[in-house]
Amino acid sequence: MSPSSSSPRRRTLTAGALAATAALVAAGVQFTTVADAANGRDTAIAKAKANVSRNADLFGFGAGQDLQVKDVMIDADGTQHVRFDRTYQGLPVIGGDLVVHQDSHGRLKDSSRAKGHNPAVKTTVPAVPAQTTAAKALGAVGQDVTAATSTPQLVVWAADGTARLAWQTTVSGTGKQGQPSGRIVVTDAITGAEIEQLATEHQASATGTGHSEYTGDITFADTLQADGTYALIDPVRGHVTKDAHNLSSSSIKATSGTLYTDADNVWGDGKKFSTDRATAAVDAHANTAWTYDYYKNTFGRSGIKNDGKGATVFVHVGTNWDNAQWSDACFCMMTGDGDGTVDPEQVDLDTMGHEMTHGVTSATANLRYSGESGGLNEATSDIFGTMVEFYANNAVDKGDYLFSDQSTPPWLRRFDKPSLDGRSADCWSKSVGRLDVHNSSGVGNHWFFLASEGSGAKTINGVSYNSPTCNGSTVTGIGNQKVAAIWYRALTVYMTSTTDYKGARTASLNAAKDLYGSGSTEYNAVAAAWSGVNVA
Ligand SMILES: [Zn+2]
Repeated sequence: MSPSSSSPRRRTLTAGALAATAALVAAGVQFTTVADAANGRDTAIAKAKANVSRNADLFGFGAGQDLQVKDVMIDADGTQHVRFDRTYQGLPVIGGDLVVHQDSHGRLKDSSRAKGHNPAVKTTVPAVPAQTTAAKALGAVGQDVTAATSTPQLVVWAADGTARLAWQTTVSGTGKQGQPSGRIVVTDAITGAEIEQLATEHQASATGTGHSEYTGDITFADTLQADGTYALIDPVRGHVTKDAHNLSSSSIKATSGTLYTDADNVWGDGKKFSTDRATAAVDAHANTAWTYDYYKNTFGRSGIKNDGKGATVFVHVGTNWDNAQWSDACFCMMTGDGDGTVDPEQVDLDTMGHEMTHGVTSATANLRYSGESGGLNEATSDIFGTMVEFYANNAVDKGDYLFSDQSTPPWLRRFDKPSLDGRSADCWSKSVGRLDVHNSSGVGNHWFFLASEGSGAKTINGVSYNSPTCNGSTVTGIGNQKVAAIWYRALTVYMTSTTDYKGARTASLNAAKDLYGSGSTEYNAVAAAWSGVNVA
């Protein structure tokens, strides 16, 4: 479907389009030089443009095209990712976007390209009257949207890899429930045939109000859908919360269950063992957001795989399943309803943080889930689950070193003296790797407590702790934020799938050296805490 130059009604793209292109370029230059000169952004953009020109075949970059900078990301190690939109003869190319990945010197390493990276079309554009296309677009959405207005724009549409001239018409109006509603209708500029229709309101963000089980009355991000109902889709973080309808954890796929929707955007009844199936969903949805935000705002990590994508969160998994689980296979979290008598739904802050952290570990060090590495994997989830609880700073579910204290009262595991649960190890020994991974994790949790809060008796947020050392030493803590930062760096930079406790000591000391310097107070506290749990 390429445009025909024999069309009787056509015009030639000349001065107007070129002037539009020049204006866009000028705007881009002003933005980048004024705002970002200090951080190497300009250089990265210039190098990226040069890389595209030098590799014109790879990028399908030819005559008449121009690049518009959309975003620049520079990693801590200097690696640069420059994202461009593309124009052709001054027209936006839909599906022509690309990302140039280059090293700290601006040398091309790799690229990511949308399908339409070769938007060559003829330079003549048929003069299809805008009103005709707009009327067509209005007709296409008429049943769902009233009082609509439309804005047509001529584009090069190449989202399927074949470039063609098209009218992109945005239709805005009011949906059946009075919500703002609209469509983007794309029609072939030559034939008038519809190419695609997109809902513009699909990602309309909203704020839900929830009566949660564990954190009182809260608000959270959800989505206003085209039909006027609200859905537990977090439009910022991307996670989606579903009712598993008691499907067992072994049979769940990402597509299982049903998305939570609600008419008035007020969710749950605040009760444990609630008959309102949305109550657990409130906690799971909001606490997943807290976990995402903890990683994002503390470490700059965008989601489990650091790619900005959200997981699927299932509540009401199994029958009396007193557990929660992360699955790489479905990129999902599953939470059960507790044992039905003492333990309620497994959706509290530290539990959601724990499970999502299994995903982070899997995407980074990928610690094998057996032996000492398995214990470190579990400890990592307990540590960051606990840090999420501290980060959320909720008045009802306060930060503590008791794991799963809300959903498995009074607690399932604790950090100051893990052996108080009757199963976990306080100190490293040669046999610790033979324990279940939820018990060999005690050594790592105990280390985290000693490094954060120090040895001996202490009351924090109303909870009393008393942490012994295994070698009789006294350890002074440096606060859990610093220890968490060290552990995160150790996990993401130095640990591997087979790291054991001795290796974890080395990895965390390397991380402490990077962050605070060799021989710093922080470095010495990390070392003393490891010695305090018999990891020398
Ligand atoms: Zn776990």
